[in-house]
Amino acid sequence: MAKLPIHGVHAPGLTLFLIFLQYPPLLLALSSSCTIQTKHFINCGSSNSVNYFTRDFVGDTSSDSVSFSEQNTSTQSSDQLSSVSAIYDTARIFRSPSSQYVLDRTGKGTHIVRLHFFPFGSSSNLSEALFNVSVKGLTLLSNFQVPSSTDSPVVEEFFLSISRARLVLRFSPQGSSFAFINALEVFLVPDGLAPYYAPNLRTTYRINVGGGEVTLANDSLWRSWDPDDDYIHVPNAAQNSSSYESALHYQDDLDKCLASELVYQTAKVMSVNFTNGQLYRNTTWSFKVSTNARHLVRAHFCDFVSPSLNTVYFNLYSYDNFSELIDPYGKKVFRQRLVPFHYDLLVKPGSSGLVKVSIGLLNTSMYQQAYLNGLEIMVIIGSKDSEDDNQNKHVSLMIGLVSGSIALLCIFGSAAIFGCKYRKPKRADMSVWTPSPAFRGGSKPTEQTSHGSVASNFHLGLTIPLAEIHFATNNFDGKLLIGSGGFGNVYRGTLRDGTKVAVKRSKPESEQGFSEFQTEITVLSKIRHRHLVSLIGYCAERSEMLLVYEFMEKGSLRDHLYNSDFPFLPWNQRLEICIGAARGLNYLHKGVAGGIIHRDIKSTNILLDENYVAKVADFGLSKLGPLDQSQTHVSTAVKGTFGYLDPEYFKTQQLTEKSDVYSFGVVLLEVLCARPSIDPSLPREQANLAEWGITFIKSGNIEQIVDPVLAGQINPNSLRKYGEVAEKCLQEEDKERPSMRDVLLDLEYALQLQQTTAGMDICEMSISEIFPR
Ligand code: ADP
Repeated sequence: MAKLPIHGVHAPGLTLFLIFLQYPPLLLALSSSCTIQTKHFINCGSSNSVNYFTRDFVGDTSSDSVSFSEQNTSTQSSDQLSSVSAIYDTARIFRSPSSQYVLDRTGKGTHIVRLHFFPFGSSSNLSEALFNVSVKGLTLLSNFQVPSSTDSPVVEEFFLSISRARLVLRFSPQGSSFAFINALEVFLVPDGLAPYYAPNLRTTYRINVGGGEVTLANDSLWRSWDPDDDYIHVPNAAQNSSSYESALHYQDDLDKCLASELVYQTAKVMSVNFTNGQLYRNTTWSFKVSTNARHLVRAHFCDFVSPSLNTVYFNLYSYDNFSELIDPYGKKVFRQRLVPFHYDLLVKPGSSGLVKVSIGLLNTSMYQQAYLNGLEIMVIIGSKDSEDDNQNKHVSLMIGLVSGSIALLCIFGSAAIFGCKYRKPKRADMSVWTPSPAFRGGSKPTEQTSHGSVASNFHLGLTIPLAEIHFATNNFDGKLLIGSGGFGNVYRGTLRDGTKVAVKRSKPESEQGFSEFQTEITVLSKIRHRHLVSLIGYCAERSEMLLVYEFMEKGSLRDHLYNSDFPFLPWNQRLEICIGAARGLNYLHKGVAGGIIHRDIKSTNILLDENYVAKVADFGLSKLGPLDQSQTHVSTAVKGTFGYLDPEYFKTQQLTEKSDVYSFGVVLLEVLCARPSIDPSLPREQANLAEWGITFIKSGNIEQIVDPVLAGQINPNSLRKYGEVAEKCLQEEDKERPSMRDVLLDLEYALQLQQTTAGMDICEMSISEIFPR
């Protein structure tokens, strides 16, 4: 079958129809997976009903759900019967400028509307028709024409949000031309299939990544999916792969409607290996689209790749300047593999007219793999911006990373400074408009409230209405207070959808408050990582500044080390916590968001989830680091916490990533010795943990400072390695200190030494020495 000449969704050719006939049981299995409600299938220009892929397309002259003015229309039949379906043997022709089809009883909500066109040979040369199609002022097709060279039907697909129980489709012939249509589908789909912020869409690409063509017979919403071969940049960079297991574990009914099961059962998979002598770390697909129009990019994932849970996570990129961590288990949402999920991105390509999507390996992932199962590219229609070519507008939208906080800053009147300082440089001809981290399809509202959907607010600008936070915290009930810090009180809370959260509420008198608030939002909305506490949202209403985080069940690392009633942590677990925190910190320094310096690493800013997974928290003091390679530091007034402060930073006021490494070294000692970084009750020479601890390590007496509850638990080699890492981190001069990557590798090695009985025999080189970068 020839490719369609225009951006349309392919209709199947004869070969595909045969494939369907070979696998009828599959169709039955799939059709029960996603239920649709009101539906209209119309065979235009005919009084006959035609069955086409399990649907009866009723002739428009005999259907009681569609009406049109007979005077201005005529019918046309093909000279030759179509090999695809009899729905392409007839057409309705519209000649008047106000021609319309009126469909009754469509129901309110999101509809899939498909317009089928096939310019068959006939007395009225259909390929000469030039026309617009619109719905209530919303242009669906403009100056539309189907060339006669088309040997297969063209199907234009839209997602339309219809607020009334009827749909009026207007056909407007251009000049002296006419309009035509062969068949029409309109059916109501579950809420959330089109996100609330992009309710009207036109489908341009629908791709089964890593698999073959999926025909509409194998999709419960009669979509067809093309293979990705024509769009992938370097085909060798990833391999096609299919799942051996067929049962998918859907999280809810909406997910069943998002894509064909077959899409989730195949993927393009990349892993760290050499292909044709070359190492690939990214795989990219690109798609030609309308320049300067906003697009929704929906990336579909289903993990059948990971050897086990929690072992594979990777990045999804759009162009090169937006990335999202894909970590299906990091959020503890999925406790099993083969769970379909998706991410939505909003992208506005510049004059390049290209949408580029990539997946990239992360060296922090246990298995360096990445996968992608499906991609949909849909142009957003109906908003002013979609047709707006104005570059200035374009630039302001592209800031997008924190669109909500930009709005917020306007309220506070400091948008200009902030925007200039932290915005990534604009690329010449492309821009990511607004990343919309719809984690596993979070674009669907969970519960509507009088002020809108909570969940939906998470995805665009992360704002949460104050009333929702009052609800979650029972009006800041004192019983839910879990702590208090520099920014203000912290409350436990539960959102309406059951998500447990921690809410930080600024103290009215807090001087630091606003700048910490904006930094936290800027930093956390740029990044997501299994070992960084996620920001769920924020609120700036009335005089309140509120930050809402994922709830960390086990509190802070310090709570488990000293001055608390928690049971003590065994050595292995302490090492795993340090490794987790090191991963998070390494990601801040070197991850895709790049060059972020935390500035306040301490044991109270390392929080533990219910499984004791460590996550770095509290980015209020963090700094975005050097903008280019030539700069090595950021000059700043000294901030941080006494006892953890890098002495070099203190002296020079020049902040580098190595300042975090120093503070992390103090945390390592806290973990080992289970005592505070500063203890004024101790004699002067013992009060400062870093000074005191390092003398014992240097003199080879590290075992004398180990937390007494760990006596006999630590493998001496593991202990020595750990002491070495702490010592290196605490070097006076920052250039002598290791990078967080090296710290991470050495800590992993210390854990390995602890875990292996053969640990004693392992050559005691630093891992970073064995595997130099
Ligand atoms: P500080 O300003 O001293 O770093 P924070 O304001 O960050 O303190 O936090 C105060 C307290 O709230 C801490 O004891 C911490 O354990 C708790 N806390 C902060 N964030 C969370 C969270 N996401 N989940 C659970 N507890 C949290």
